[in-house]
Amino acid sequence: CLINCPFGAIHETQSALDTVLTKLKDPDTQVVGILAPAVRVAIGEAFNLPKGQLLTNKLYGAMHQAGFRIFDCNFAADLTIMEEGSEFIHRLHANVRQEPGAGKLPQFTSCCPGWVRFLENEYPSLLPHLSTAKSPQQMAGTVAKTYGAKVYEMAPEKIFTVAVMPCTSKKLEASRPEFNSAWRFYQQHGSDSAPYADVDAVLTTREMAELLKRLDIHLPDVAEYQGDSLFAQYTGAGTIFGNTGGVMEAAVRTAHKVLTGEELAKLELAPVRGLEGVKEAELTIHDQQLKQDVQLKVAVVHDMGRNIRPLLEQVMAGTSPYHFIEVMNCAGGCVNGGGQPINGSGTSWVAQL
Ligand code: SF4
Repeated sequence: CLINCPFGAIHETQSALDTVLTKLKDPDTQVVGILAPAVRVAIGEAFNLPKGQLLTNKLYGAMHQAGFRIFDCNFAADLTIMEEGSEFIHRLHANVRQEPGAGKLPQFTSCCPGWVRFLENEYPSLLPHLSTAKSPQQMAGTVAKTYGAKVYEMAPEKIFTVAVMPCTSKKLEASRPEFNSAWRFYQQHGSDSAPYADVDAVLTTREMAELLKRLDIHLPDVAEYQGDSLFAQYTGAGTIFGNTGGVMEAAVRTAHKVLTGEELAKLELAPVRGLEGVKEAELTIHDQQLKQDVQLKVAVVHDMGRNIRPLLEQVMAGTSPYHFIEVMNCAGGCVNGGGQPINGSGTSWVAQL
């Protein structure tokens, strides 16, 4: 990610960390921490805990102690997959029925800002293939400032949302006006600016570890905490967003349930798991709405710089065999993002698996 990051947003800023620390001390502000799935399995390394140890409730406890309300980004990943899965079904049906204006297939996932920026720069004619769903980070920010304002009983301008991400590119994603519902709302009402963003600050996993250390919160010693609202509840589909193949597996589960009325017999979609650069899966779904069998072919790409171009050239040529393609910039997915603790050996820990 540090090499590929198309935003150039590869440096964490001291100011983001200082701003969050200041907001945590402000009695008039409710700071909400939006915690990404990949952070909880990596932050332990910054406290000399074993690699890969799952620390969800300890991290909730540490953030609670620091003054955050907990908004688990897995909750927002569940929202994302409902949106993205519904959009996929809509596009699929419109294409099968040959409706005019049917959305483009294959549909591309849109939750990795590195990938979105790459497509904008390198293959702009393929942008209509991108899902219109915002990423979990941006959905979480929007929900926290709207429905969340009722849950927290605070005005949205008094809520300060901090996304805690494995990713440096997420900093620029949060700053893009088109992903900010509040900015768009104020623009539509004749204002040049809005008093707040959907996501006010983004901290990487490393920065969150630094924040806890500055507050003298030693993660291994913290008591576990269960969260404080609906926003700390989520499914296993939201959790696997942190891994390559996770978004696709979640999408296929959702599409199967919606189209057939039944859960997949086996929830794991084995062909899209693992660390092959390009993975693909085929399945036949009996579509109750179309009243026919539909043959779905999907692909999953990670380590984008090495692997994505041949698939995009197929789409450009109109020869792509796929209906849906998941793309993640980083090797292994977000779990190996550019904001995660840096391995002492200087190599990716995914590469060591
Ligand atoms: Fe960020 Fe994840 Fe994309 Fe890497 S794969 S750039 S960590 S969103």
